[in-house]
Amino acid sequence: MNVTPFWLAGRPETGDGELTVTHPYDGRVVGTAAVPTPAQVEEAVAAADAIRKRAAALPLHVRAEALAHVSARIAERAEEIARLITAENGKPLLWARGEVTRAISTFRFAAEEARRFSATTQRLDTDPAAEGRMAYITRVPKGPVLGISPFNFPLNLAAHKIAPAIAAGTPIVLKPAPATPLSALLLGELLAETDLPAGMFSVLPVPNDRASALVDDPRLPIVSFTGSVPVGWAINDQVPRKHVTLELGGNGAAVVLPDADLDWAAKRIGLFSNYQAGQSCIAVQRVYVDRAVYEEFVPKLVEQVGSLVTGDPWDDKTQVGPLVSQDAAERVEAWVDEAVAAGATVLAGGTREGATYAPTVLADVPADAKVAREEVFGPVLLVQPVDGVDEAFALVNDSKFGLQAGVFTRNLDIAFRAHRELDVGGVVIGDVPSYRADQMPYGGVKDSGVGREGLRSAMADYTEEKVMIFTGL
Ligand code: NAD
Repeated sequence: MNVTPFWLAGRPETGDGELTVTHPYDGRVVGTAAVPTPAQVEEAVAAADAIRKRAAALPLHVRAEALAHVSARIAERAEEIARLITAENGKPLLWARGEVTRAISTFRFAAEEARRFSATTQRLDTDPAAEGRMAYITRVPKGPVLGISPFNFPLNLAAHKIAPAIAAGTPIVLKPAPATPLSALLLGELLAETDLPAGMFSVLPVPNDRASALVDDPRLPIVSFTGSVPVGWAINDQVPRKHVTLELGGNGAAVVLPDADLDWAAKRIGLFSNYQAGQSCIAVQRVYVDRAVYEEFVPKLVEQVGSLVTGDPWDDKTQVGPLVSQDAAERVEAWVDEAVAAGATVLAGGTREGATYAPTVLADVPADAKVAREEVFGPVLLVQPVDGVDEAFALVNDSKFGLQAGVFTRNLDIAFRAHRELDVGGVVIGDVPSYRADQMPYGGVKDSGVGREGLRSAMADYTEEKVMIFTGL
C-alpha cells in the first residue's frame, strides 16, 4: 500500500515512520500516512515563521483564488473524498458525502471572506480633542496558527482551521487526528496545486506524544484546537500566554414544547442523536419534553429511532454506522449499563455488535449517571418529562457543557427567552442543537470551550486590529 506523504511547507515529504489507518467497521488497513521527523517538524514551523510578513501582505485575490480552487477541486473529487472519509472514520457514506459538501462551502465562504477582508476607517472627531484626526484600521495576523483537529469531521474541521488562516493571510501548521489523517493530507494535496507561497501551510500527522512540543513552540502564537474537553483545557493551561481557541465537547439538549410539530421534532431528534453514531459535539443527548405532550411524543421518537438503518457504512442507505473503534463502543455500552443498573429504562437499543452500538433511547435516567452528566459521544438519547419552560431551561443549563441547544417551539417570546437564558454558544429554534451552518459563529461556553469558529469569526480570532491615525485632516 502506498504511503500518503505529509505536507511540509507546501511540498510532499515522507519521514521516518508511518501511521497505519484502519477502517472502524471491519478493522482492515485502509492507508498509511508518513510521519515527519522532529527535524522536519522544525523545518515546517521555521518556514511558517519565516513567511509571516509575506503571508500578511499576500494580495486578497491570490488568497481568494487559492481558496476557490480548493473548493472547486473538492467538488470535482467529491465521491473519492467521501469514500476516503468513510474508509478512515467509519461514518456512513451518506454523512461523508454531507461532510464533503460542507467542506466545499467552507472553502467557498472563505474565498468570499478573503475578498471582503478590507481596512476600515473611523473618524475620531466625535470628541473635540480629536478634531482633524481619523483612524485607519486593518486586521493583522497575530502569527502563524497551530491547528489541531479531531477525528469526527476529519475533512471539514481541518478546513475550518486552514481556510480562514489563508483568508486572513496567516501561515498554518495543521495537526490532524492520528486515527483519520488521510482527508487532511488530501487537503494538503489540493492546496499544493495553488499559487500560495511555500511555507503558507503544512499538514503534519505527528503522534499525540509529540504534539505538545508544537503547542509549546513560541513561533506558533495561535492555537486553534478542536477536540475533547480534557485535552483542550490542558493545552490552554500549558500555554496561558498564547491565544487559544477551544472547540470542545458537549451533551447537547433539545426541548420539546406543546406547540411544536411533534412529528418533525421526533424525526429530527431521532436522527441527530444517532447521526455519525452520536460522534458529533452537538449531537442531541438529552431531550426535555413538556409533560402535556410527553405520552404522545415518546412513541413517535422511539419509532423514529427504531427505523434508522444501522450497519455497513458503505451501504448508501445506512444512517448509523460504527463508532470510531470497538473501545469507544464498549465505553458507551458500559455507561448505558451503569445507568440501567441505577434504574434507567431502555426504550430502544442498548445493544452492541463490535464497534457498532444500536441507536438507544433511555428514560428514568438518574441525574448523576455518566450518560446524563458527561459527553456520551455515542448513539444514546435520554428523554425526560418536564413541567413547562422554566424546568426545561433549568435542566438544559444544569450541565458543565454549553455548546448549542435546540428548542422546538413556534412561540417567539419563548425563542427570545431561550436565547437570553440558555447558557450555550448557540440556540436553534425549531430544530435540534446539531444544526451548524459553516459561515456562522460557532462555539461554546463553560467546559465546551472558548472563542468562535465560522469563517469570519475565525479570521477575527487569528488577527487583531492595528490602527494608523491621521492628523490634521
Ligand atoms: P481528542 O481530544 O482526543 O483529539 C483531538 C486532537 O488533539 C487530535 O488531533 C489529537 O491527536 C490531538 N491531541 C491529543 N492529545 C494532545 C496533546 N497532548 N497535545 C496536542 N494535541 C493533542 O479528540 P477526538 O477524540 O479526536 O475528538 C472528539 C472530541 O472532539 C469530542 O469531545 C467532540 O465533542 C470534540 N469536538 C468538538 C467540536 C466543536 O467544534 N466544538 C467539533 C468536533 C469534535
